[in-house]
Amino acid sequence: SSKQNGRGTFSFYASTLNDRLLAYRGLVEDMRRGLAAGEFFLEYQPRFDTRGRSVRSVEALVRWHHPERGRIGPVDFIPIAERSGLIMPLGEWVLRTACQAAAQWPAIGVSVNVSPVQFHNTDVAELVRRVVEETGFDASRLEVEVTEGVLLEDAERARNALGGLKALGVKLAMDDFGTGYSSLSSLRSFPFDVIKIDRQFINDMEDRDGGREVVQAILGLGKALGLSVTAEGVETVRQLTMLTADDCIEVQGYLLAHPMSLESVSTLLSGGGAGKHREGQAA
Ligand code: C2E
Ligand code: MG
Ligand code: MG
Ligand code: MG
Repeated sequence: SSKQNGRGTFSFYASTLNDRLLAYRGLVEDMRRGLAAGEFFLEYQPRFDTRGRSVRSVEALVRWHHPERGRIGPVDFIPIAERSGLIMPLGEWVLRTACQAAAQWPAIGVSVNVSPVQFHNTDVAELVRRVVEETGFDASRLEVEVTEGVLLEDAERARNALGGLKALGVKLAMDDFGTGYSSLSSLRSFPFDVIKIDRQFINDMEDRDGGREVVQAILGLGKALGLSVTAEGVETVRQLTMLTADDCIEVQGYLLAHPMSLESVSTLLSGGGAGKHREGQAA
């Protein structure tokens, strides 16, 4: 019984509450220390023109090199950063680092993911204004990617912030388009420039009835509203062929390039290879 198990029972019980709280606090502490110690780094995933296959821009994606746990992806620490407030210093670091990096690549843009929590707690337009000034980066080459979570909680605040970014010349992308509840109306009522079709829809193009038609409809919507459309998560030649045939102008995905280091982007841009550009795992 539970009583007989003694200590084991306690730790099982604790694992549901106390251990989780301790683990959370431990991670927050690790993140705080890791930020100061320079354990976070960015990788950049190219976004390609479907026609010329040239790199139009890169998306900055944050990673953590934890001293004991090794490499940790954003899905495992962004939520903790958001809950703890550490997303504010982390997000500022990401923005500054991405702008500094992209300043070295004269021909292309850079996109940065900004959390709804940053929008709700800070003046993101003012932050961007300060960072582009400090880094000498041209704001018109910066794109901010937001999910519609930004728009849901405080629409007025979001509208002001997005308007402020537009006034700086920054482009706005709606990330993970189609996965939320209000994507369609948000496209009209907020000043987006770019729709990023969520990779689930790209995935469904090949193997589900109507999957391709859904993507075609989003492409048509973008065209009708004068927005540029990027397909995320392109993994197969067939998907790329269909997207190209359907006049999708920009694609991003493992088929063309994985997220890569700063050095690899520089090599890629200086003509270090044509066709497929891969890094890390074999695709
Ligand atoms: P996202 O902005 O939608 O980024 C796309 C994610 O899909 C990235 O995962 C990318 O590595 C992955 N991906 C790209 N191509 C493919 C593909 O062909 N197949 C598959 N299966 N995946 C692909 P990652 O880097 O793990 O980032 C996950 C999410 O974490 C991002 O989704 C974004 O929401 C968030 N994130 C990443 N960096 C930052 C950041 O600096 N700030 C904030 N606030 N969020 C970030
Ligand atoms: Mg993104
Ligand atoms: Mg996305
Ligand atoms: Mg996402």
